[in-house]
Amino acid sequence: MNSNNNISANNTKPTMAGAARVVILGAGESGVGAAKLAQKQGFDVFVSDFGSIIEAYKAELQSMNIPFEENQHTEALILNATEVVKSPGISPKVPIIMALVAKGIPVISEIEFAKRYTSAKTICITGSNGKSTTSTLTYHILKNAGLNVGLAGNIGHSFAAQVADQEFDWYVLEISSFMLDDMYKFKADIAVLLNITPDHLDRYDYNIANYAASKMRIVQNQTSADTFVYCADDEETKKVLETINIQAKTYPFSILKEVEQGAFLAQNNLHININLNNKLTMSISELALQGKHNIYNSMASGIVAKVLELRNETIRESMGNFKNIDHRLEFVAKINEVTYINDSKATNVNSVWYALESINTDVVLIMGGVDKGNDYTMLKDLVRAKVKAIICLGKDNKRIHEAFEDDVEVIVNTFSAEEAVQVAYHLAKKASTVLLSPACASFDLFKNYEDRGNQFKAAVKEL
Ligand code: ADP
Repeated sequence: MNSNNNISANNTKPTMAGAARVVILGAGESGVGAAKLAQKQGFDVFVSDFGSIIEAYKAELQSMNIPFEENQHTEALILNATEVVKSPGISPKVPIIMALVAKGIPVISEIEFAKRYTSAKTICITGSNGKSTTSTLTYHILKNAGLNVGLAGNIGHSFAAQVADQEFDWYVLEISSFMLDDMYKFKADIAVLLNITPDHLDRYDYNIANYAASKMRIVQNQTSADTFVYCADDEETKKVLETINIQAKTYPFSILKEVEQGAFLAQNNLHININLNNKLTMSISELALQGKHNIYNSMASGIVAKVLELRNETIRESMGNFKNIDHRLEFVAKINEVTYINDSKATNVNSVWYALESINTDVVLIMGGVDKGNDYTMLKDLVRAKVKAIICLGKDNKRIHEAFEDDVEVIVNTFSAEEAVQVAYHLAKKASTVLLSPACASFDLFKNYEDRGNQFKAAVKEL
């Protein structure tokens, strides 16, 4: 959380007047959606992006006759805003945001803005890892149960564009800490906090307490009529919960201990006790999503479904037939008895831990990229036990060499997905697994994590 935004919070007021000026900073999915909704609501809209805007979004703005600029922020066109909607990717420390805050102009997120124009109820899912998986699974369960539900936030089409175009009764929203930082009056009807592990600390003064405080904004404005779902096994969550007075009804989930009301694991059965007269029990072998981390994700989604009083049979069926989105422990191929797995979305150390934990063979691990200040210590035991070789895939791999030089005999540098896959092919013994699980962002060699995963998959298919 940053104190600058509190200034915005105090000044935030709904801007209903037709002539009020809404300026949108960042013309990506969320910005263009916000522009569309703002125009529909009759505001004077202007979009400004400090980088270049991709063609499809430019065309969309043009087709709506919404004025925009790219590769610059013209202060005269921005500092006259009544309110500013900021892309979550823009740091609060860039000059234009500092100037807005200094002038007392409210800066809010697209989620905060869009929520004003819908009466749909929201299920908001946050955490360091598992947001997309859990949001998609929850959406899948609700949709299969016949609810009129949308999926938005950090995934798919923006919330604002859907509010402009659709009439859903429910939204499952994937919410990042960067979005939460610009949310003030927003209230989640059901809030889910999956876990808090170090990530994005560069935006939080390298202080995990600041990052945890940001995540806890998921419960702000909740009342006793609302619901909060959280992981009772997560150390940072437990720590931060001690400092907060939660108003909502809380449902913890755990795989370590039985919980009275919530979800837990016992003898490989997942139990969900929300309605004590109608508990749900399901064997974890029936879950479509495998791996310890996915038991947590399934528990969180299952609790939400039970809070909404969906039928056990429907929930069980949906949790059993769900197909996860790509790039999360995605099976690619088995070639010469070697399994290739694409986990390109593993952009922090914790997600790599769960990937290694879920694999029961020797591993050739492809990792590296833009290191956000990783501490690799938590991986050492699993790496020593399972990883036979590390293939670095990044421009600067010094930190990976330093972290694992005593644990793994072979550490090789590569500079393209194709090269990494070729080297892996030669190093991997029969019955082992080649795992792309980078622990790092992808921007040094790839457009984004999808591009990295797709190039990996293409290279495997060429073998
Ligand atoms: P997010 O949207 O929070 O980045 P994803 O669902 O896209 O999360 O998963 C990102 C990475 O984290 C993947 O490598 C995935 O296998 C791993 N992961 C998923 N759920 C969890 C969890 N509950 N705890 C730790 N890692 C997880």
